[in-house]
Amino acid sequence: MPTAHKRLMDCHAMWHAMSATYMEPDDFRMHLNSLVQGLRNVTFMIQKQKAELPDYEEWYTNFVRDVTPKPLMRWAVKSRNRIVKESDLELLSEAKIRWVANWITKEERKFTFPPRMSSQQMLAAIFSDPGNPRVGVVTVSRRWVDKALPDYELLHATREIFIELSRLLYAGHAAAGVESCAMDSRDPACVTSNISVHPLLCMDINSALRQEHVDLEDGFGISEVVHSITRDERQVEKANKRYGTFSVTATGPIEAAPQLMKSAQMVMLKDKNHMPMVWSYRDGKIVDMISPNFFDQNGKYLMFHRLADRVETLRADGVVLVIEAWWAPDDKRDAQGLPIPPRDREDRQEVLHVAAATRAGERVSLLSPFSRSESGEIVFGETISGPDEDAGLSALGPFLPIFERWKQMDERGER
Ligand SMILES: [Zn+2]
Ligand SMILES: [Zn+2]
Repeated sequence: MPTAHKRLMDCHAMWHAMSATYMEPDDFRMHLNSLVQGLRNVTFMIQKQKAELPDYEEWYTNFVRDVTPKPLMRWAVKSRNRIVKESDLELLSEAKIRWVANWITKEERKFTFPPRMSSQQMLAAIFSDPGNPRVGVVTVSRRWVDKALPDYELLHATREIFIELSRLLYAGHAAAGVESCAMDSRDPACVTSNISVHPLLCMDINSALRQEHVDLEDGFGISEVVHSITRDERQVEKANKRYGTFSVTATGPIEAAPQLMKSAQMVMLKDKNHMPMVWSYRDGKIVDMISPNFFDQNGKYLMFHRLADRVETLRADGVVLVIEAWWAPDDKRDAQGLPIPPRDREDRQEVLHVAAATRAGERVSLLSPFSRSESGEIVFGETISGPDEDAGLSALGPFLPIFERWKQMDERGER
């Protein structure tokens, strides 16, 4: 099915063109129109060739059975007909405002704003209402939605349809006993003939380019900076010399947690500190590894919401976090009955914290309390494993945005 295969690659390229012109209403509309038609053409091209395709009836019928009940796929067919025969989609320019006061208190609302309105103007409009408190951190995300599909941002919606079609082509190729075909290289370079059943990492539905963050306490923007580091075998060798060798053999986050605690302790003994690290898993493989950095509590809230964005973009099904944290062995409340965070308590203790969670609902929290001797050596106490009363859910606080995102992905049926 070389024609269908090429058309799928066209869709990939068109998706990037649409993403690149997100802030230009007419260019965005133009690329969206092409993409919606392109996606539909993939199935047309397959149907044209069905007589030559091995086991067509089987895998095509499976596809139709799977996608027919999905509202998103019905929208795709309807929208294509509308664009070809009637008119454009009714595009709405929205801003999603996420306000985070702490791990528990947060709010998300969508507003319609003109596409060229600045984030400062949007925030001014929202906070002119004295009922909206100025604490925590707020994120403004730009989004285009179709009036007929109000719950989906359009890069997200079209990416989902692209994934369904990739799975269809994957099944068709598998039935013919091939994984992929040789095709000419394209622009951008990520548009290859590889057919993936997973979301492609280059199709970022939560790009930093479309988000702005403001710390409400000081009124300043928080900017996001990403440094990519390429694995360098000489550096690995150097690290092994410095810390000793260790290997993480586990294929999932839950089993990896105790192994990562061991390696984190080795690093801690040598360096006297440990930078935060997060590994994302999908289907038993590590798909992402980052060191999330932040400079204050609002930055930390923001960072973990951005991690949830990343989990969604990668469709990761598991995460492990290694971080230095404050911890207190019991629950103390303030005059209002609210729990006092360990960082604000006199009896707080330093811990290495390893937390792991999966989309299927598994949770592990390991706490390794430590003290510093007079000569500066690190002395570890006994590791506490949870989640339970002691190493409980409060220790998993930073993961709450990710848990919520998994729930939303489940509700939308994104597998
Ligand atoms: Zn092919
Ligand atoms: Zn790409």
